Amino acid sequence: MDEQEIADQRKLFGTNGIRGIIGPEMNAELALGIGSAVGTILPGEIIVGTDSRTSNQMLKNALISGLLATGCDAIDIDLAPTPSVQYSVAKSDASAGVVITASHNPPEFNGIKVIDSDGTELDFSKELEIEKRYFSREFKTIDWKSVGKLKKDKHANERYSKAIASLVNRKTISDASLRIIVDCSNGVGGLVTPGLLSSFDVDVMTLNAQPHGSFPGHPSEPTPENLSELMKMVIAEGASFGNAQDGDADRSIFIDDKGSYITGDKSFALLAGYLSSKNPGAIVVSTVATSDVVSDMVIKNGGKIVQTRVGSPIVARKMKEIGAIFGGEENGGLIYAKHQYCRDAAMTTALMAQLAAERGALSEQLKELPVYHQSKLKTACPNEKKKRVLASLAESMKDKRVDLTDGVKIFEGERDWVIIRPSGTEQIFRIFSQSRSEDVAKSLADRYMSVLQEIIAETS
Ligand code: MG
Repeated sequence: MDEQEIADQRKLFGTNGIRGIIGPEMNAELALGIGSAVGTILPGEIIVGTDSRTSNQMLKNALISGLLATGCDAIDIDLAPTPSVQYSVAKSDASAGVVITASHNPPEFNGIKVIDSDGTELDFSKELEIEKRYFSREFKTIDWKSVGKLKKDKHANERYSKAIASLVNRKTISDASLRIIVDCSNGVGGLVTPGLLSSFDVDVMTLNAQPHGSFPGHPSEPTPENLSELMKMVIAEGASFGNAQDGDADRSIFIDDKGSYITGDKSFALLAGYLSSKNPGAIVVSTVATSDVVSDMVIKNGGKIVQTRVGSPIVARKMKEIGAIFGGEENGGLIYAKHQYCRDAAMTTALMAQLAAERGALSEQLKELPVYHQSKLKTACPNEKKKRVLASLAESMKDKRVDLTDGVKIFEGERDWVIIRPSGTEQIFRIFSQSRSEDVAKSLADRYMSVLQEIIAETS
C-alpha cells in the first residue's frame, strides 16, 4: 500500500487527527475508546494536553480513563499549545502524546490528535492501526494492581517557552524596542506568546489573549476577514508588526507595520530567506504546491530547497531525514528544526521578532520578494474515480515537463506551473496555478480545469 492508500483506508483520522462536532460524531465514548486503543498500541507514559474548547475536559478525562485502563500512565499538562505538547513528548521518555484540539474549526468542533514519541504527528499507518483497534475493541486488559497512574504537569508551557527563548538573539530583540500586537484568537497561544515576547523586552499588546472555548473575539482561523481589528490596532498603535495564531497555536500569521496582511507564503519566504542567509548551505523544505517566492528567497540567500508532498507531518519527517533547518507550508505552519520538528506559532513569532529587530520594517523587506500570482479552482470528482483520473492526466501530459510528487504538476516555462491534486477529505480535485503574470496564472488554471473535467467525464 502506498501512503495515499493507507490514508484513504482511515475512517476516523483525517488530515489532522480525528475531528468532529460534539454529539454523535465526537463524544466521551469515542475519546475513551481512542484512549484505550492508543494505550494498547503505544504502551508507556502518555502526555495529554488540550486547547481551549468548552468540550476539552470532557474529552480529555475520557481519553485519560482509556489510557489508565490499559495500564498506561498519563501526564496531564492540561491547556497547552499543540507544539507545547509535542515539545513535552519529544523531550521526555513518553511513548506518545495526545492533543484534544480542533485547531481553527468553529467552537462546536473538537478533535483528537496523536503525537509520536519523537514529537511529530503520528503517521498514517499508525493512525490506521489505532482505528482498527478502536473498531475491534480488542483492548489490553489489566488487573487492579496494574491500573495506570495519573500525574499532573503544570510547567510544560514554561519549559517550552524557555526552550524557544534560548534559540533567538534576545539582546538584538531587546535593543530594537519592538512593539508587537498578538491576537491569540482566544485559543491557547495566549498562554505562551505574550509572556515570551515580554521576556525579550518587547512592548506587547494583546487581543483575544484569554483562552475561551466559544472564541468570542473572532473565529479561530487567522484569515484576513477575522483579523480586521488586529490590522487596525497595528496602525493605531504604531506597532512593529501584528501576529495572529490559530486556536491551538501551531500556525502564525503576520500583519506588517503598515497594517497589511502578509500571506503565509510571504512570511514563509521572509523567514526562509533570513535563516538561509544565517546558515549558508542549509536546506529548507516546502511542498510542491508552495509558491516559488519561498524557493527564490532560499536560493538567493545561499540555501537549498527540497519539496515534498503537501502536509505538515510529511514536511517535518523530510526535514528530520535530511537535516533541514526550516520548513513548512503557506498556511502559516512553519517548522524550525533547532527547536522541534513540528509547526510552532510561538517559535515562528520569536523568529519574526528577531528578523524585524535585525533587518527593520517588514513592509520594506516584503518589497524585496519576487511577485507571483496564483489562481485556485476546484472541480467535483467521485472518490472512486480519483486514482484513474490522475493516471490518465499524467499519461496525457507525458510530453510536458511534469512533477508527480503529489498529484500532477505541469510546468509551462520555468516559473509558470499548475498543480492538480485530489482532495484528501472532499470529493474534488484542486487546481492551483502560479505565474509572474496575473493573466497567465488565471488562463493556466482555466485551461487545465477544462482538460481535467474532460478526463473526469471520459473516466468510467
Ligand atoms: Mg492549528
